[in-house]
Amino acid sequence: MSESQDIQELRNVLLVAKKYFKDNRNTLKMAERLLSEMVDKSFEFIKHDIDIPDIRFTHEELFQLVWPKAKSPDKAPSTIRNYRPQLIDLLEDDSSLSQFMIKSGCEYLLDFNTDDVKGGAKTTHGLILKSSAQIQTHKASNVVSYKVVRLPKPTWWMKSLMKIELEGRNSFWFIFVAVLCVLSIALVPYFVFKGSASGLSAGLLLGVIIVVASSLLYKIYDLMERGVSKSPDIFTPFRIRNLFFVTTRKPKDESEATRPKVIELLAFEGRCGSCGDDLFIEKSREFKGRYVGRCAIAPQEHVFSFDHITKTGKCLR
Ligand SMILES: [Zn+2]
Repeated sequence: MSESQDIQELRNVLLVAKKYFKDNRNTLKMAERLLSEMVDKSFEFIKHDIDIPDIRFTHEELFQLVWPKAKSPDKAPSTIRNYRPQLIDLLEDDSSLSQFMIKSGCEYLLDFNTDDVKGGAKTTHGLILKSSAQIQTHKASNVVSYKVVRLPKPTWWMKSLMKIELEGRNSFWFIFVAVLCVLSIALVPYFVFKGSASGLSAGLLLGVIIVVASSLLYKIYDLMERGVSKSPDIFTPFRIRNLFFVTTRKPKDESEATRPKVIELLAFEGRCGSCGDDLFIEKSREFKGRYVGRCAIAPQEHVFSFDHITKTGKCLR
């Protein structure tokens, strides 16, 4: 599995598969039960922020999912190997599960992936996304799609910013920070004119307040105006290329009826529709302050729009 996968898309597809197994829970055969357990467990892993390459199962782990009380786990490798062809069949494009996913509007289908291991490493299995010819998409060469990739090792303070649900008290804090920024900027000239803030350190402090408050205010404005705002430079030591705060809605879950607005910190990845090179997403003066995806090797010619909700972009040239 060399190409990176869209973690949001995998989450959606797994959720649809969960629904399929729930609807058919009374008629599931053994292989289907195994797959259903695998779907549930993979979904749990994503919920706990585990990255796709790590959502793998050994023979023993898969065996445990269906036969947790089995007395002879040494049967696990042969049992799983026997079920493997059936599992692959269940995920064929024309299987009833895949057809259900297509009808439910999934952009991708699931695939059963087994590692080819050499040497002492254990064979692992996992569920990954595959594209299907049966899914009619508008993917021509002048259209690109973006993927959301997981942040490598976010620090605790980054984690606290990764998902802010704008509900009740949180939206209050959001407005509070904005007002605080305006106030602190407004108060700087007051202190300067009053003469109470003089000297180098006072000037420096006021300067820092202005810079921090105005950049924070600008981020909030950007988010409200465009729904997207590039993460501040202090995040770049993590070497994440396209890191953005975006406004989205909470993902659909079985239980919830209302979906509050959420501010999320997401890393995007895109490939140029003309040549296949990396896309850099940046704000463009030429396109009236919109965020656009520019090709790394032909930034003037290969330019695409950037829609963080549909995760697609159209050719702008
Ligand atoms: Zn290009």
